[in-house]
Amino acid sequence: MNGLMMDMPLLISDLIRHADRHHGDTEIVSKRVEGDFHRYTYRDAHSRSKRLAKALGGLGVKMNDRVATLAWNGYRHFEIYYAVAGSGAVIHTINPRLFAEQIVYIANHAEDKVLFIDLTFVPLVEKLAANLKTVKHFVIMTDRGHMPKTTLPSALCYEELIEANDDKLEWPTFDEKTASCLCYTSGTTGNPKGVLYSHRSTMLHAYAAALPDALNLSAADTILPVVPMFHVNAWGLPYSCALMGAKLVFPGPHLDGKSLHDMFENEGVTMSAGVPTVWLGLLNFMKESKLRFSTLKATVIGGSACPPAMIRTFQEDYGVKVLHAWGMTEMSPLGTVATFKGKHAKAEKDARYAVQNKQGRAIFGVDMKIVDTEGKTLPNDGKAFGDLLVKGPWVTSSYFKNEGGDPLMDGWFPTGDVATIDPDGYMQITDRSKDVIKSGGEWISSIDLENIAVAHPGIVEAAVIGVRHPKWDERPIVVAIKKPGATVTKEELLNFYEGKIAKWWMPDDVVFVEQLPHTATGKLSKLTLRGEMKDYVLPTA
Ligand code: AMP
Repeated sequence: MNGLMMDMPLLISDLIRHADRHHGDTEIVSKRVEGDFHRYTYRDAHSRSKRLAKALGGLGVKMNDRVATLAWNGYRHFEIYYAVAGSGAVIHTINPRLFAEQIVYIANHAEDKVLFIDLTFVPLVEKLAANLKTVKHFVIMTDRGHMPKTTLPSALCYEELIEANDDKLEWPTFDEKTASCLCYTSGTTGNPKGVLYSHRSTMLHAYAAALPDALNLSAADTILPVVPMFHVNAWGLPYSCALMGAKLVFPGPHLDGKSLHDMFENEGVTMSAGVPTVWLGLLNFMKESKLRFSTLKATVIGGSACPPAMIRTFQEDYGVKVLHAWGMTEMSPLGTVATFKGKHAKAEKDARYAVQNKQGRAIFGVDMKIVDTEGKTLPNDGKAFGDLLVKGPWVTSSYFKNEGGDPLMDGWFPTGDVATIDPDGYMQITDRSKDVIKSGGEWISSIDLENIAVAHPGIVEAAVIGVRHPKWDERPIVVAIKKPGATVTKEELLNFYEGKIAKWWMPDDVVFVEQLPHTATGKLSKLTLRGEMKDYVLPTA
């Protein structure tokens, strides 16, 4: 016997419709690329999303077509989120910090049909346009007055598309399992891989993220997502905020300490979210300028491990609660948040910090376990550490176009993180088994850097590992064995990288050794090497 509740699919368009109907006059404020502020309401955002959806229809965008963006956090990007997914097409947010070749690769792999571009990225796209095989329309996200002179073929003006359409549109209804958004991750080996979310997964994630023991969002909040809308959908905030009817403040490209602090204060921001590197910049600026926060109550810190000192500084010096969170692109992204249980209310201060320094407890919807190298489940005793596996309705089951084959192990997704789980369910990451390095929230491929090192005539073998850095979280170093008789120096090897990689991928140091550790199957054992190098301190730290 079925229940008798209404059978309604979970669709992203319902979020913006709800925000319009129940929080219509709540504001969305954006600092534009042009430098000025733009303010409007959820009602306006809904109306313009519908007009844009009509414009997309006019450009020939159909169900399941991919529509890409190269854009900062702003109201136009927000409208594209809703217009594209609401129409049944798929929004593909491209990370502009990837190399040019990677951007071309993923845009072609995704078969993007339309590309929306913030003014900042027009010169970048002009260089790539000839190689973007499937893009039929380039839309520049500005008004007629700010349209740049461009070599892009038949570039369209965003505001003209909006003006040419009215908002008389009923959002279509379709299966909630329909794809809604596509994000590529370079946090795996090989080419970037696409993670394809559905309306259902996005909606369930939006509900769960808003809960008190997750991000604790409310209609009384003003939320400034520092985390970019091209990083796993700004951790889902553009959806969760509409669900709750929270005021949104979008910083555009203005992420320096002063700009952020001004926006926090002028807009009465109560809650924010970002990677540790951004907060370090803001905290340094605040200390130098002897500033305070008058409205900020909490901030989510994740994407990389949050340094314990940062948690203390926020909480003790500024009265801002830190929500240390862990997740990944493959998980929409939210997996765990380090929030307290009732039993911690009377705990000593240090014991409470010990809880917050961990990556946190699984939020409902995410199940997790740790396993040993044979796949045997390890105890949740806070001591045993092993590969962290997850499952849940917003965890990926495979990559777009089945790239890399079936990633699952007995129905669980291997995260590539190595962790402990304590008896209270708090997970702590102790290492990473995947061969990538995370610097300032962005991935660096250790394998690419190793391949370059061994291409040098003086090098026999090289391993690249990430080492703790106070500002960037991790930076790459090369640990290499020289060929007998070779005289290659650190400087020579670093020069050899010039022109072959993006500047921010440049290793911070080279250490020459006689031997490198290997596993039983002859592979480089980075886990052992990281252990051997645990007392090493970066010259740049
Ligand atoms: P991404 O897919 O780019 O969001 O990266 C996900 C990966 O970032 C995870 O698998 C972790 O390796 C790392 N990560 C994310 N959040 C944290 C955190 N709070 N602490 C440590 N590592 C983290």
